[in-house]
Amino acid sequence: MRVIEDKSAIEPYLSDESNALKASPDCVSRVFYPENHIDLTSILRGDYGGTSNCTMSGAGTGVTGSRVPLCGGSIISMERMLCAAPREGWDMIKAEYPAGRAMILVSQDRSAAIVPPGITLDMLSEMLPQDVFYPPDPTESSAQIGSTVATNASGARTFYYGPTRDWIRALMVVLANGDSIRMRRGKIRASDDGHIRFGTASGQTYDVPLPSYSMPQVKNAAGLYASPGMDLIDLFIGSEGILGIISEIEIKLAPRPSELITDVAFFGSEADALGYADDLRVLREEGIIAIEHFDANSLAFMREKETRIKESFRAAVMVEALGDRESTIDKIFESCEAHSVIDDWSGPPSDFKEFRHSLPESVNSYLRQHDSHKLATDFAVPAAHFPEMMVAYREADEAFAAKFPRPGVHTVLFGHLGDYHLHFNFIAANGPEMAFAKGLYLGLAKKVVAFGGTISAEHGVGKKSIEIDGRDVPYLQLMYGERGLADISAVKRILDPDFVLNVGNMVRE
Ligand SMILES: Cc1cc2nc3c(=O)[nH]c(=O)nc-3n(C[C@H](O)[C@H](O)[C@H](O)COP(=O)(O)OP(=O)(O)OC[C@H]3O[C@@H](n4cnc5c(N)ncnc54)[C@H](O)[C@@H]3O)c2cc1C
Repeated sequence: MRVIEDKSAIEPYLSDESNALKASPDCVSRVFYPENHIDLTSILRGDYGGTSNCTMSGAGTGVTGSRVPLCGGSIISMERMLCAAPREGWDMIKAEYPAGRAMILVSQDRSAAIVPPGITLDMLSEMLPQDVFYPPDPTESSAQIGSTVATNASGARTFYYGPTRDWIRALMVVLANGDSIRMRRGKIRASDDGHIRFGTASGQTYDVPLPSYSMPQVKNAAGLYASPGMDLIDLFIGSEGILGIISEIEIKLAPRPSELITDVAFFGSEADALGYADDLRVLREEGIIAIEHFDANSLAFMREKETRIKESFRAAVMVEALGDRESTIDKIFESCEAHSVIDDWSGPPSDFKEFRHSLPESVNSYLRQHDSHKLATDFAVPAAHFPEMMVAYREADEAFAAKFPRPGVHTVLFGHLGDYHLHFNFIAANGPEMAFAKGLYLGLAKKVVAFGGTISAEHGVGKKSIEIDGRDVPYLQLMYGERGLADISAVKRILDPDFVLNVGNMVRE
C-alpha cells in the first residue's frame, strides 16, 4: 500500500468543493492509499504506526467540509479502492482506469452488483451491463460511490427512484479499531427498547442506543438515521464516516429504461413554473422521473454559456420522463400550454447534462474567483409549507439586494422541485455581504425546522457550523438540539471510543 508523507501530496486533500474550510498541511502527517479491505484494517490496527485521527477522502466534491481533516492526523484516500473481491456465482467486470485496474461483480440475474468504494459514479455507469443501471444520480458524477453511501446522496431522479439509501443491499464496514462488520439489509433490526445489537467479524458484540430524535418526514440526509425498528445498515448509510469506513457495497440495479426524454420548459413567471410542477408531481407513477427548477437568477447565470436563454424567461422546469409513455408525454406538453409556457426544448437526457451541471459549477467557480465561499442551502420542506418557503426565499433575495445594491445576482435558487428541495445559493461578493447572508441563512433554516423540514436533504452536514445566540455550534444542533447531538456522540463513542474517524463531522465531541 502506498503511504505518502510529502506535503505536496497532502495539499489536494485539505479542502473540498465548498471551499469553506481548509486544514493546515502542518497537522496532517500522511496520506494512505488502501487498495482493499485488509489494507484498511491494517491502517486502523496501527500496523503503520499510531493513527489518532483519520479522515477519509473520496473525490472531494463534498460541499460540507466533511472530508477536510481539520483535526489533522492521517488521510485515508479511497481512490485506489477499485476492486471488489471475486465471489462465486457473480460475473466479474473489469476496466482499466488511470488510478489502476477496477473490478466490480454483477449478479447473474443482473439485479445487483458488488462494488468497491473508490469507483466513481461515472466509472460505475460505464462498467455496468447496458441493460441495467444504478439509479442514484447526484449531479456531480465524479463522486465516489463509497462517499455517496456515506452521505446518502440524492439527485434529480430521487423523485422517482429514492435516495442512495434505497439502493444499498449490503455493506462491509471497518470500525475504528480495525474490526469489521458485514451487514445485509433485513438481517438486523433495532429492538423495541430503541437499541440495536450486532456482532463483528472478531466476535465482539455491540449494544447501541439509537438517537431519540424523530427524523423529518421529507427527503433527509442530516444526522444519523434513527427510526423505530430500523435496519442496522441504515445507521451506517449517511453516517458521514463517523462510525466506520465502508470497504465494500452491494447495490441494487434497475432495468435501464428503453428511452428517456428530457424537456426544459421556460415560463414568464415563477408562479407558472410552480403550477406546472404541481401538475407533473401527480404523474410520478406514470413515468415522471425528475422535476428540476431554475429561477430567473439561475437563468441569468446560465445565459453566459447558453445564449438561447432569453431575458423574458423568468423560470424554467426541467422534467425527465420515461420516453415510451406517450400519454405521459402528451400530458407534459398539455400542462406546459396550460401554464403559458414561452419556449421548451426536448431531447435525450445526454443533451441536457451539461445544461444542468453548468449551473452549480459556474456558481462555485464564480465564488472561487471572487475569493468568497459558497453559502448554499440544502433544505427540503413538507409539501404543505413549500409555498411559504418560496415566499421566504424571495424575501431573503430582496433583503440581500436592498442591503447591498450592485450589478449582478445576489442569490440563485434551483434544484429538486419534485421533492420540494431547492438549493438557495447566496452569491456574496465580500465579507460584509457574507456576514449579512449568514444572518438570512439562519432565519431560513429556523423556518425550515419549524415547518418540519430538514436542513440537509442530500449533502449531509459535515463540519458545517452555525452561530446561535453568539455561539458557534455544529449545524445539526439547529435541527436536533443539544440532546440530538449528545445522542449521536453516544453512538459514536460506542463504535469509535477514541474519536479516530472523521472527527468533527456531525458532532465535535
Ligand atoms: C457541482 C456539484 C453538484 C453536486 N450535486 C449533488 C447532488 O445532486 N446530490 C448530492 O447528494 N450531492 C451533490 N453534490 C455533493 C457531493 O458530490 C456528494 O456529497 C458526494 O457524495 C461526495 O462524494 P466525494 O467522493 O466527492 O466525497 P468527499 O467529498 O471526498 O467525501 C464526502 C464524505 O464521505 C466520506 N467518505 C468517503 N469515502 C468513504 C468511505 N469509504 N467510508 C466512509 N466514509 C467515506 C468522507 O470522509 C466525507 O465525510 C454536488 C457537489 C458538486 C460540487
